[in-house]
Amino acid sequence: MSIVKTLSRKLLFPTLVGMGVDKLLLAKNKKQQIIINFHGVSNIKGKRFNNRHLDSVEFEKLILYLKERYAIIPLKELFENYRSQKKVPKKTIAITFDDGYINNFTVALPILKKHNVPATFYLITESLENKEFYVWPDVIDLIQKHTKEDIKLTVGTFKYPGFYCDTLKLSLTDLMKQSGSEREKHLNEIKQKYPIYISEAAKEPELIKMIHKTELENYKDEPLIEYGSHTHLHYNLEHLNSEDCFKEVSVSKHIIEKIIKKPVLSLAFPDGSYNETTIVNSKKAGYENIVAVTYKLNENNKDPYILSRFTVSNSTTSESNLLRLAVDFDKFGF
Ligand SMILES: [Zn+2]
Repeated sequence: MSIVKTLSRKLLFPTLVGMGVDKLLLAKNKKQQIIINFHGVSNIKGKRFNNRHLDSVEFEKLILYLKERYAIIPLKELFENYRSQKKVPKKTIAITFDDGYINNFTVALPILKKHNVPATFYLITESLENKEFYVWPDVIDLIQKHTKEDIKLTVGTFKYPGFYCDTLKLSLTDLMKQSGSEREKHLNEIKQKYPIYISEAAKEPELIKMIHKTELENYKDEPLIEYGSHTHLHYNLEHLNSEDCFKEVSVSKHIIEKIIKKPVLSLAFPDGSYNETTIVNSKKAGYENIVAVTYKLNENNKDPYILSRFTVSNSTTSESNLLRLAVDFDKFGF
């Protein structure tokens, strides 16, 4: 890490936050509410094989900062405020977690409970039924960490370390995102040719294991947590045809509802990917509170059923995230 970055993180950002600079920035924003997005939280110190998880100490620090500056309310309430155009007395946030990593229960939840903070956990429902399910970027990262070789698939060779294919002019990540339901074919080929990911995954349970139905059953009545759908297989929905898209959003809704025995009204688009067809299918499936990352369509600004989110960075500190949030409140808030 560069000296400037290190100094900023260790000295400058904490000093700015200590001086209340973020509060001044925040006061200038016109918007009143915002939704924040996390993925995982981890107790593991040192270098990790991926950066999808925030350090637990930084997470708790951030939660305390947020509690001091904002009203933290359940996502459902935030949508209701937005739809009724209710004036909130103070800047307000709702907290969400995407993907359904087991560390949401084992690491994040105890911290949320300690500080009485509500959150929405978005689950990928294949993981509820299949204990061997890992999200595809984790499978690729595990293979990359171990093999340090090119990934050779029928469609082309993806060169280590970035896994870029010169003939397709595409990275493996983009191929996976853009292939629609064909993605499973590529993923199955990767898994079959590089089974090393299985033993590597076993070494990293806190960073890679996803929530299974037995765990969800244990926490289904946790009063601070709302469960939402993050679809069944985590496809980038804009690349699915209408029929497959509807299946992804409706199957996942029913699987969660069957376990928690409550209606599932919230949906988070994987990778923030969607188009008009996705929205039509999500509403048809019965979702009322839909979250994206950034708005992709102009008309979204007027749609009271879909809201954007601010994503917390895992590769920096709580102070830096807090300052970013204060700066970007208007951009992602409403
Ligand atoms: Zn996701």
